[in-house]
Amino acid sequence: MSLLSVAGVTKRFGGVTANRDISFEVQPGELIGIIGPNGSGKSTLFEIISGFYHPDAGAVRLDGSLLTGLSPDRVCRLGVARTFQKLRPFAGLTVVDNVMVGALTRTHDVRHARARARELLERVGLGEKADAYARTLSTGQRKRLELARALATEPRVLLLDEVTGGVDQRTIPGLVQLVRDLHRDGLTLLVIEHNMRVITAVAQRIVALYLGEKIADGPPDAVTRDRRVVDAYLGQVYTQ
Ligand code: ADP
Ligand code: MG
Repeated sequence: MSLLSVAGVTKRFGGVTANRDISFEVQPGELIGIIGPNGSGKSTLFEIISGFYHPDAGAVRLDGSLLTGLSPDRVCRLGVARTFQKLRPFAGLTVVDNVMVGALTRTHDVRHARARARELLERVGLGEKADAYARTLSTGQRKRLELARALATEPRVLLLDEVTGGVDQRTIPGLVQLVRDLHRDGLTLLVIEHNMRVITAVAQRIVALYLGEKIADGPPDAVTRDRRVVDAYLGQVYTQ
């Protein structure tokens, strides 16, 4: 059975259909890239999977259990975590306390949660910043903080919305390596990403969206050559 199943998901905002009948299956341990031009419905799809939006039609299941209709908190406890395209750490809290917020979804023991948070900050390369205020972090460091906070909820599936978006070019390779490490350690990931070099380097499979519809789904080399993907998004056949 698939770990995550997205079946016939449709979401409308007034006259805009942000997602139209989107279906795909995610196997345990897969890393799937989600691509598409701005406004194609990528973030909306993540909002639906994580329970922040309810779809007008369709269903999302984790290991066969229905997620659709549950609160974001409940979906998170069942094992789906996400990072946000627009970063929103608690600026007035320290870095370690931000991550503790995630860890407290799994334990009520504050000392245990803090220890777990420190462990995860080491893991994402932010150990030295643990006691700094979140507002003092650079964009790249905030992305790492978001990752640590999401990981602290012990997800079975992690949704990353534009992890390299808006960060300094020089910090991209480190973030990419981190995503690869998480995948290598067995985590299942869905990754929205505009940087084709990044996506073709990390993804085993790519799902392409355009105007709310899925227009391609397959291995990176096939999807990046797909005529509809080239016309809708890439502009030309992408070669490394
Ligand atoms: P992407 O992440 O691919 O850029 P989005 O999922 O953010 O795309 O948006 C898809 C479409 O849905 C866009 O036309 C966007 O304006 C619209 N949309 C997204 N969220 C909302 C919302 N909360 N209210 C109204 N329209 C929305
Ligand atoms: Mg988006």
